[in-house]
Amino acid sequence: MSAERLEVGLIQQMPKVLLHDHLDGGLRPRTIIDLAAEQGYRKLPSTDPDALGEWFQRGADQGSLELYLETFEHTVGVMQTRDALIRVAAECAEDLAADGVVYAESRYAPELSTAGGLTLDEVVEAILEGFRIGSARVQNRPIVLRFLATAMRQADRAGEIADLALRHRDAGVVGFDIAGPEAGYPPGRFGVVFGRLVHANFHLTLHAGEGYGLPSIREALDLGAERLGHGVRIVDDIALDATGTATLGRLAAYVRDRRIPLELCPTSNVHSGAAASIERHPFDLLRRLRFRVTVNTDNRLMSDVSLSSEFAALDAAFGLGLDEIEWLTLNAMKSAFLPFDERLAMITDTIKPGFAVLRSDP
Ligand SMILES: [Zn+2]
Repeated sequence: MSAERLEVGLIQQMPKVLLHDHLDGGLRPRTIIDLAAEQGYRKLPSTDPDALGEWFQRGADQGSLELYLETFEHTVGVMQTRDALIRVAAECAEDLAADGVVYAESRYAPELSTAGGLTLDEVVEAILEGFRIGSARVQNRPIVLRFLATAMRQADRAGEIADLALRHRDAGVVGFDIAGPEAGYPPGRFGVVFGRLVHANFHLTLHAGEGYGLPSIREALDLGAERLGHGVRIVDDIALDATGTATLGRLAAYVRDRRIPLELCPTSNVHSGAAASIERHPFDLLRRLRFRVTVNTDNRLMSDVSLSSEFAALDAAFGLGLDEIEWLTLNAMKSAFLPFDERLAMITDTIKPGFAVLRSDP
């Protein structure tokens, strides 16, 4: 443990990178209320922003899957028009920039926003437009935002979403993801779709190894996933002896040797029951073993977190300090689905100088 904990205010000044953040999990409560009024959506549990925010966080923290899923019903419920999507995406850019995030990949399943008549292409175009508008509003805190197109495991539209992602790949869609319940919906049934994306030299990250264990991780890698959404259950393939010495199984060794990025989301894991507490989260073991660990928010509204608060919680539990947060940030930037030269420029022009300034500041 470090003697001094880092203040959230200091962490907010660090140039950070976020790879796993759901657009429909990060709305401002005030915005949900406004959009519900505009669209005649009457199912919100409260129209008071504070009470609504607390309701969302209770849903995430009660270990009730039904209540948790209900929270997304409301955010998705108000994301059904072009204007609503633009506003949500623009505010996402503003909120992340205000938190000191300099590069983010935001993800969402476009198929969830077609109930009001939008086409899949219109959904993606509105989100990218929102990112442009939001980024332009925060020129004092520049942020680069890219989009990951998610397909839902329990639905049957992965092929369409893959084509959609490829159509918009030069406009800001940099990757493809599968989300939704792991148990009962193995990614193998999307093998043909993934094969097509790999053949098109597109990027893939898959939600795997969150609630469900090693078979899910193995299958995601077999199918061409470059990163693991969560991937935290890789610890099931690591044995610790009485002295704390770790022995890696073949899969864990492969993940570490190949530098496969783990998109860890500690608070979200605590809320979903995948980890008992931040203090007992496998983040610490995986980071000490030098896996390619990255720190992420998952759902900022439901988990009541920001990337800075997440780092602050990890620093309080494990004494990360500035150097380790920089290492985690470089891990994330190296793992981004941005072209190599742009990644390198972010590292040399933004991230390293940003940390150096904070380090030299007494
Ligand atoms: Zn997620």
